[in-house]
Amino acid sequence: MKVTIFGTGYVGLVTGACLAEMGNHVVCVDIDESKVARLRRGEIPIFEPGLEPIVRRNHANGQLEFTTDAAVAVAHAQIIFIAVGTPPDEDGSADLQYVLSVARSIGQHLDRYAVIVNKSTVPVGTADRVHKAVCDELKARGVEIDVDVASNPEFLKEGDAVEDCLRPDRIVIGTSSARAIGLLRKLYAPFNRSHDRTVVMDVRSAELTKYAANAMLATKISFMNEIANIAERVGADVELVRQGIGSDPRIGYHFIYPGAGYGGSCFPKDVQALERTARTVGYNARLLEAVEAVNHSQKTRLYDFILDHFDGALRGRTIALWGLAFKPNTDDMREASSRRLMEALWEAGARVRAFDPEAREEAQRLYGERSDLVLCDNAYQTLDGADALAIVTEWKAFRSPDFARIRNMLKDPAIFDGRNMYEPAVVEEAGLAYYGIGRGRSV
Ligand code: NAD
Repeated sequence: MKVTIFGTGYVGLVTGACLAEMGNHVVCVDIDESKVARLRRGEIPIFEPGLEPIVRRNHANGQLEFTTDAAVAVAHAQIIFIAVGTPPDEDGSADLQYVLSVARSIGQHLDRYAVIVNKSTVPVGTADRVHKAVCDELKARGVEIDVDVASNPEFLKEGDAVEDCLRPDRIVIGTSSARAIGLLRKLYAPFNRSHDRTVVMDVRSAELTKYAANAMLATKISFMNEIANIAERVGADVELVRQGIGSDPRIGYHFIYPGAGYGGSCFPKDVQALERTARTVGYNARLLEAVEAVNHSQKTRLYDFILDHFDGALRGRTIALWGLAFKPNTDDMREASSRRLMEALWEAGARVRAFDPEAREEAQRLYGERSDLVLCDNAYQTLDGADALAIVTEWKAFRSPDFARIRNMLKDPAIFDGRNMYEPAVVEEAGLAYYGIGRGRSV
């Protein structure tokens, strides 16, 4: 089938590559000329395991094309995906300017029936706004054609995006148009071979499903961080509590890891946007407010430990930092806990020496001008001249470090473990002070 995708970010590029991999002819369109130029040269602008070979292969065989020309892209297909960003507006609600701008450009070029499929995470009611924006443009051109707007929220996880896209848990299709359902069922048929993963519903329910999924996951994290903060103060170890509750199948082990707060491009903005949506319809979403508030303070938990360890005197100190990305297997630093920690350290007059296996380029782009940040080539290089070590991203490469080497290199051997990667006793036996999240220490 022929498919067009607006937006070549984490969602658009991965979706385009995976649909091309299934034999479809996909045109990806982006307004970012340099991104499109890089993709045409076979360079992948983001780090996502397994993505590069699929993009290269399908680009080389002509199944996956890249363009900045919206007219060419709209003319290409009957199924047109919108996968552009929906960043938070000033008040926390989703900023729909990119989505609506795509809708207008589709309306400016469309000349036959199409189903416009929204993959971006958007508030309930956006499909209606997209439909109106397209139809207003068609009307202005005097063109009379049918258009369906469906919601098809994306559930991929950065770091596992290709796998999630090729083997999705579920495919949510929100529309009441039989024609749109037929086209999308056909498109997704190769992903449903072992069993049908498709859940068809009305468009508003589909739009809300995405927010509900992310809000639920964020709630689990904030809940566990709340328990960690209580554990810390009552002398309990949250890691044992985690194992104790995870064994109950009604709770499960997934997503109950305490830590230095959630980040990324989705959870923070989606929880906020859902809370704002609720407010606009006269409902005060108290649980979502609490989820957000717990996460906000959790992001400074490591900083509090560091400040306390150094008796409030951080000026002139150097902190080694392992991990910059908001989670492992990505280079994405949007809303990353590392950023809040570094900014607090800089504010207090400390310097940072940081290493991340993939996010160096992004950190350089964000903070390259700063003289109080040194980006290192490997984990141990960060320890040169550093006072203590903080860890905020649980990359596999950090799981079994040489604690003796760390102790010998640090001026004041202490590890601030924002992801509870280590056993406190093992670190302490190696001669280092250990601070974890919710591990029976109060500050
Ligand atoms: P992104 O910022 O990585 O990419 C968005 C792309 O859209 C950019 O390349 C941008 O240049 C392009 N763009 C903007 N306006 C355009 C236009 N008018 N025409 C063509 N291209 C345009 O964003 P992302 O992380 O891929 O997220 C996209 C959407 O999917 C968001 O709503 C997000 O909430 C949602 N989502 C993201 C993830 C994730 O893990 N990143 C997962 C599920 C859902």
